[in-house]
Amino acid sequence: MISQSDNARPEGSSGFAPAAPLELQRVTKRYSGQATPAIAELSLEVPAGEVCVLVGPSGSGKTTAMRLINRMIEPTSGDILLGGRSVLERRPDELRREIGYVIQQIGLFPHLTIGENVATVPRLLGWDRARIARRSDELLELIGLDPDEMRDRYPTQLSGGQRQRVGVARALAADPPLMLMDEPFGAIDPINRGRLQDEFLRLQAKVRKTVVFVTHDIDEAIKMGDRIAILREGGVLAQYAPPTELLSQPADDFVAQFVGADRGLKRLALTTLGDVELIQPNGLAPSGRRVPLRSTVRDALSMILTSGGRPLTVIDDDDDVAGLVTLELVGGLLGQDGALANGGGAGEGGEASEGGEAGEGGGPSEAGESGGPG
Ligand code: ADP
Ligand code: MG
Repeated sequence: MISQSDNARPEGSSGFAPAAPLELQRVTKRYSGQATPAIAELSLEVPAGEVCVLVGPSGSGKTTAMRLINRMIEPTSGDILLGGRSVLERRPDELRREIGYVIQQIGLFPHLTIGENVATVPRLLGWDRARIARRSDELLELIGLDPDEMRDRYPTQLSGGQRQRVGVARALAADPPLMLMDEPFGAIDPINRGRLQDEFLRLQAKVRKTVVFVTHDIDEAIKMGDRIAILREGGVLAQYAPPTELLSQPADDFVAQFVGADRGLKRLALTTLGDVELIQPNGLAPSGRRVPLRSTVRDALSMILTSGGRPLTVIDDDDDVAGLVTLELVGGLLGQDGALANGGGAGEGGEASEGGEAGEGGGPSEAGESGGPG
């Protein structure tokens, strides 16, 4: 009954199990009575500790793929390896305890306290009470909830965002080498959604799990993914690539449409001012608004546009002037091959006209990452 990941590992941030690589090998799933498969010959490798985002329109088989991985359903053909071992050889109940699963309507047990909810899997694994209590508090702290304040509350006494965090903590409780997250923040309002995304990225930097994250929102995919798998209807893989590559070199029209006409701007959001060659002031006294070197180029563009097109002074961590950024510089980056990481020719027309949208000050998710002007 006790899973292999339950070897007496110490609690604490150093106590997280190594993540396991995941590999789908030509996986096909045809539900009975279905004319076309929900998933067709899907092959994907997710290296240990990376976030793979599955993105695609409704009905493209994203949830089916997740349920195949943890064996809630069985593939029609193909194989799935977790840590090099076929999940088809594993006992489904045992396997599921080793895989954290987070879904949109989080499904906390309403009659159990937050602490008891987080402790669900450790209890099933037969941990002793003291260890469960320690682990439960540790996880609440990890997701930014005060254990003393939260552990004895019931789910109805939490906000939607807090409940979703508890769902993530519950999925992490037994230290799974793999996390499956199916539209985990889909039901949360945009502001809290951005916060949850930022928090999850901070958490992931600490715990380094292998994660499969499902969304139908390409912006969320670009923000969360180390790699993005775009599925089209019929569960066919259209492209599997890191975000910058997807934006600069979409494999076909379907991918190009899915990532959006503003993919040039999206690419700017993945690049910081530290990544580009700034204009040197050459003795001119720097003026204009100041922007930190770690800001994204997209945020800088947004600031330029709201400053009447005037250049910004870029400031490094020591408060020294690193250079200037101008509208022309950003425009050049959009159009120029190789100027950005993996920068292909994404700068065709239409993007400049969408600058007005960027000028609205960016979403909460962007502000959280790059910090405000210095
Ligand atoms: P997504 O999560 O991308 O929206 P799903 O994996 O839920 O897509 O569904 C993929 C396809 O499989 C859809 O056409 C859906 O109708 C079908 N499907 C999903 N679950 C079942 C089921 N249990 N039985 C039959 N068809 C199903
Ligand atoms: Mg789904």
